[in-house]
Amino acid sequence: MSASLVIQTSFLGDVILTTPLIRELAKRGPVDVLATPQGAAVLANNPDIRTVIRYDKRGTYGSALNLWQTVREIRSRRPYDTAYLAQGSFRSGLLAIMTGAKQRIGFASSTGRALYTEQIPYRPDHHHAERLWSLAMSECADPPTRDQIRPRLYPSDEERLTVDRLLRRAGSLEEPFVALAPGSAWGTKRWPYYVELAKRTSDHARIAIIGSKSDEPIAEEIAAALPAGCVINAVGELSLLASAELIGRAQAIVTNDSAPQHLASAMGTPTLTIFGPTVPEFGFGPLAERHTVAGLDGLSCRPCDRHGPQRCPLGHWRCMRELGPEYISSLLSEVLNPPVPV
Ligand code: SF4
Repeated sequence: MSASLVIQTSFLGDVILTTPLIRELAKRGPVDVLATPQGAAVLANNPDIRTVIRYDKRGTYGSALNLWQTVREIRSRRPYDTAYLAQGSFRSGLLAIMTGAKQRIGFASSTGRALYTEQIPYRPDHHHAERLWSLAMSECADPPTRDQIRPRLYPSDEERLTVDRLLRRAGSLEEPFVALAPGSAWGTKRWPYYVELAKRTSDHARIAIIGSKSDEPIAEEIAAALPAGCVINAVGELSLLASAELIGRAQAIVTNDSAPQHLASAMGTPTLTIFGPTVPEFGFGPLAERHTVAGLDGLSCRPCDRHGPQRCPLGHWRCMRELGPEYISSLLSEVLNPPVPV
C-alpha cells in the first residue's frame, strides 16, 4: 500500500481532469487531495479519495502567515509516500516538501520543478487528462485507454433530487432537453450567438441553461427569446455537482472552452465545444465518447492566448464572430443524430 497526496489547486477544469490520476493512484493505496474550496466541492463523494483537504489560496489560509495551518492539517494525515504535483507552482512544491512525502513528482516544465524528486516530461501533444495521469506511470507504460483518462464526478442523492425538483418545476422530469453553457471567465471565449442557437434548437428540444450567477444576464436574454415552457433556467441555482447531474441528463451540451465541457466529459454527455482564441490542441478538449469541436480554421492570429484574453487584442474578434449560429446548429444536429454505422 502506498499513500498519496495529490496537490491540485488550479482551475476547476484542471481539477476535474485530475480524477483519472486519482483513480489510478487509488488502486495502490489511500489518496488525499489538496484542492481549493471550489475544487473540493467538485471532488465530493469521489470514492477514490480518502480526504479532500481544502486550501483557500485567496482566503485566510492563502497568506504566508496562515499557510502553516494548511501544512499542519496535511501533516496530521501523513505519512505520504508520494506527493503528486498536479499544479506546478513553487508554493505547491514547498507545500509538498513540508508534508514530508519521500517522493515529489511533477512536470519538468513546472515553476516548482527544482523542488521535485522526479520530473515527468510535459507532453504538449497529449490531452491534459493524460498528462496528469502520466504522473503516476513509468515512461514505458502503455498509453491509456479512452476510459482510463475519462474524468468522473459523483453527484449525491441530494443533488439528484435537486435536479428532479428543477425539472418538475420546469414542466417535466422525462422530456428531453439540450443544455447550453454560455459563460466563461474569459470574455473572448464567450461565443456571442447563444440566443440565436437557443431559438433554432427550441424548435425540437427544450433548452436548459447552465452557469454561475455571473451568467444571469445572458441566461435571461436566452430565456426571454424562447416560448414559455421551453426553457429550464438553472443559472446560479445549482451546486457544481448538481450542474453536473443536470448536464448528465441532457441529450447534448453546447459549451465554450470552459468548465461545463469538463463536467460533460465526466458525465458522458455528448458535447459540442466552441473554441475561439484557444484550440483543442492545448489539451483541454471534450472527452465524452460522442463529441465534436468548432473553431475557425485558417485565422493567423489564432490561438492568441492559453486562456483567452478578456478582449480581442486586435479588436475584430473574428475567431468567434465568424462562427455563425447556422454552422453551430448544424454541428449540434450531428452530435444529436450521429450517423448510424453500416
Ligand atoms: S486575436 Fe484572434 S484569436 Fe485572439 S481573440 Fe482576437 S480574433 Fe480571437
